Amino acid sequence: MSGGGEIRPPGCYLLAMSFEPRALTPASDAAPMIDPFGRAVTYLRVSVTDRCDFRCTYCMSEHMNFLPKRELLTLEELDRVCSAFIARGVRKLRLTGGEPLVRRDLMTLVRSLGRHLDTGALEELTLTTNGSQLARYAAELANAGVRRINVSLDTLDPARFAKITRWGRLQQVLEGIEAAQAAGLKVKINTVALKDENADEIPSLIEWAHGQGHDITLIETMPMGEIDEDRTDQYLPLSHVRARLEERWTLVDLPERTGGPARYVRIGETGGKLGFITPLSHNFCESCNRVRLTCTGTLFMCLGQDDAADLRAPLRASANDALLNDAIDEAIGRKPKGHDFIIDRDHKAPAVRRHMSMTGG
Ligand code: SAM
Ligand code: SF4
Repeated sequence: MSGGGEIRPPGCYLLAMSFEPRALTPASDAAPMIDPFGRAVTYLRVSVTDRCDFRCTYCMSEHMNFLPKRELLTLEELDRVCSAFIARGVRKLRLTGGEPLVRRDLMTLVRSLGRHLDTGALEELTLTTNGSQLARYAAELANAGVRRINVSLDTLDPARFAKITRWGRLQQVLEGIEAAQAAGLKVKINTVALKDENADEIPSLIEWAHGQGHDITLIETMPMGEIDEDRTDQYLPLSHVRARLEERWTLVDLPERTGGPARYVRIGETGGKLGFITPLSHNFCESCNRVRLTCTGTLFMCLGQDDAADLRAPLRASANDALLNDAIDEAIGRKPKGHDFIIDRDHKAPAVRRHMSMTGG
């Protein structure tokens, strides 16, 4: 088993190498990516590492085998693939993981990708994090052009937090969220709804988030990767959660759509926004606008399917992006219509064998 992550000592990033970012792909290679169902791919999520400093019970086993570092795309390679996607019409880029902020020198990549915000090629550069390293990096993220981040937080109870994340400390995450706010980053809280662990706390989490000025989104657990527990014990349908919240508050549906599995409401009493991510339902696939890249350069065209394309080989085979673009076209041509998740009481195996930390959700 590999160790618990790649956390750098404070200040180490000051020594971080920088690299020469390339210009965007020439216009001839810049055809937009339209899949067989006419959907334009405009959103790329990139898992920059499979490692993490937490071991959330629904996400990972406590004794994970992480990838050898040599298998990972370098930061230069990640920049090159991301830039190729941006040249092909990606407008929104989310860095995720594993825990993105434990990847060594990640800020070099963030700063470099920030150039696409300056040119207007990219609309949004953002990040999903567990918040543990935010106190250290919030200001740098803001300086690089990041405006909004998602922070995962499933409970405000320190003992529960330690139980769910196994290795995490609540106070560190709360300090990270404060640092993000102080740096001017808009924070959205992501909360996985867990039947036994936090179902009773969801209303107070929402009140807390809205009181702090954060939007909050609830996520249904997804059957991805082997974990140490039985998933059917944790599954809590968000339809039940919503029904309970409607007994207490006025939920007004918002028309907002992100091309993903989230639906939003405004809560009359708190004035804040609440999202519901129900990936097990199929009601969002027809507007799906996204693909996911792992830290080894594997492209997943659907969160809920195992089919994938290797972009690392074409990336490394040639210094120009022609082979890479061919591989991207071939992959987008295979983007499936929808997914096929099930949490099945009889078949306890995960519906998708890879862990969420490979593709980052
Ligand atoms: N480590 C970062 C974090 O926790 O925010 C980024 C990666 S994490 C895989 C991204 C999101 O996926 C988190 O909000 C996490 O709670 C969620 N997640 C992980 N495993 C999940 C699962 N099996 N079902 C639903 N959501 C999951
Ligand atoms: Fe790490 Fe995020 Fe998975 Fe928790 S959900 S173990 S923080 S990758």
